[in-house]
Amino acid sequence: MERLCDLQGRRLIIACEPCHRRGLYDLDYLGHRFGPHACVYEVYIRLTQTCRYQHPVGVRRPNQYGRACRAQIELDQPSSAKLLPSRS
Ligand SMILES: [Zn+2]
Repeated sequence: MERLCDLQGRRLIIACEPCHRRGLYDLDYLGHRFGPHACVYEVYIRLTQTCRYQHPVGVRRPNQYGRACRAQIELDQPSSAKLLPSRS
């Protein structure tokens, strides 16, 4: 599992359709709050605790008899075009 310090980008986006939520989290802020080497999965679980269907911290798998939160993690990355050498 990736750690916060491995992520390329400036912001983490957490989007959950069943819960109708979408959150933007600054990676610098997350690094201060959880530590730069925090596991992304742990951070994800903690950030989605307010989700109606999320399972508790420390439980590895959602309860198979219940509904699970479907929150997705996305990265708000700088445009890849900036990484290409300029042709001018
Ligand atoms: Zn959710």
